[in-house]
Amino acid sequence: QKLDKTVLNSLPDTISRPAYDRADLSPGIVHIGVGNFHRAHQAIYLDRLFSLGEGHDWAIVGAGLKPYDAAMRERLKPQDWLTTVVELDPKGLSARICGSMIDFVDVDPAALIRRLVEPGIRIVSMTITEGGYYVDANTGGFDSGHPEIQADLENPDHPRTVFGVLVAALMKRRAAGVAPFTVMSCDNLPENGHMAKQAVVGFARALSADAADWIAEHVAFPNGMVDCITPATGDRERNLVRDTFGIEDAAPVVCEPFRQWVLEDNFPTGRPALEKVGVEFVRDVAPYELMKLRILNGGHAAIAYPSALLGHYFVHDAMADPLIRDFLRKLEEDEILPTVPEIPGVSFDDYLTTITERFSNPAVGDTIPRLCLDGSNRQPKFILPTIQDRLDRGLPIKGLALETALWCRYCLGTDEAGNAIRLEDDNAGKLSAWAASVYDTSSGEFEMPDLLGNLACEPAFFQAFREAARTIATLGVTETLKAYLKG
Ligand code: NAD
Repeated sequence: QKLDKTVLNSLPDTISRPAYDRADLSPGIVHIGVGNFHRAHQAIYLDRLFSLGEGHDWAIVGAGLKPYDAAMRERLKPQDWLTTVVELDPKGLSARICGSMIDFVDVDPAALIRRLVEPGIRIVSMTITEGGYYVDANTGGFDSGHPEIQADLENPDHPRTVFGVLVAALMKRRAAGVAPFTVMSCDNLPENGHMAKQAVVGFARALSADAADWIAEHVAFPNGMVDCITPATGDRERNLVRDTFGIEDAAPVVCEPFRQWVLEDNFPTGRPALEKVGVEFVRDVAPYELMKLRILNGGHAAIAYPSALLGHYFVHDAMADPLIRDFLRKLEEDEILPTVPEIPGVSFDDYLTTITERFSNPAVGDTIPRLCLDGSNRQPKFILPTIQDRLDRGLPIKGLALETALWCRYCLGTDEAGNAIRLEDDNAGKLSAWAASVYDTSSGEFEMPDLLGNLACEPAFFQAFREAARTIATLGVTETLKAYLKG
């Protein structure tokens, strides 16, 4: 059946659907960037809350400024903004029709500003990708010189960027004496609230100090840590929803069954009672971000290269290989977990167990080549700080040095069976030169690249790395991993 509100009652019982009357909902949130992740994550939390009979004045109005969003609006409109969300549980797929979005603003900045001025809208949330925050790569500050930002600054009454639109709407609310909305970033970047604030206030500051000061003082930008692996939708996903559940959905979402949302409780104009559906409200999100960065992202970064060298393609196949699974566990337990500051009430052992299960989920179909992408960007975020932290505390780094040596071995461009590896990395040239100097020369002399930051000149790290690389060169990856696991 083609999905729309008229078929909700005739769907098979196996498909969950809104346990509330959507006609009773009223809008409280405008969400900018209605991609897949929003519909797998925030929209589902609200759908669950509405199903409890709560928070019916917090329905979502979709919005966006990109051609992507206009196309999404066209797909969702004929289905009354409903989305089929399929959870990829290895024990069996399940489908839920999510009804928490009740409208979608025309993809037009002026229409969006008009909507954002309505007093009922108390939260503006967004998933506009990590790249959407106009961060100056050199300073880490707001890039007010970006051509799109410059264009908005020249024409602040007719902005086209998210931040131009938010500032214009906030100024209208201020002039009308309407309390400002809270800006809630749900993008996957550390301190996403601070980054959103930096962009909104940065944009306002380039217009007027008064506007910037007012926003900085009156608008809340809670930080949040979000988690739920949500692949892009293609024909495979549309067909899955049609063939398995009998629903014709133009834009379904598939995602893993795991979801986490840790949010700073900083909503001066109110918020839905999301704690009733599993959202964790905390005073400071930073420790949770560090947990995710080091244990989850660090775990992904650690298994990527040995798995590729051993010829694994899917992450779940790599996790079924005892060498990889045990390497991950030992590395995490011995060297990563102990560096993450304790969080009251959170067990890192349980978190690691969940991660191991998530990585092992065959239904997600995540790939090792994806995890291997862009190592020169990921290793400095997910692994190298853990090494530095341990060195600063005088702790051993054998496993992490081995991880770095395996990454370097991967950069040589062939796997253990001699198959070619294509290095996809902005710094591919530097990395292969480094790998060649470490693994390909008879002199045994090499230098650490500046890509490693301060670690490049840490003697203790150099020694451990060299020892690991020598072992890999002599014994090969399999025997090196076995030796590490015995140690
Ligand atoms: P998606 O490609 O489905 O959607 C991206 C959305 O961002 C679209 O609505 C697009 O129009 C909008 N966008 C992109 N650049 C923009 C810009 N400069 N200004 C305004 N809007 C812009 O991607 P997705 O899977 O929904 O992921 C979106 C974000 O969600 C990610 O970048 C990440 O920060 C976060 N996230 C995703 C996942 C995941 O597994 N997909 C997990 C956790 C967090």
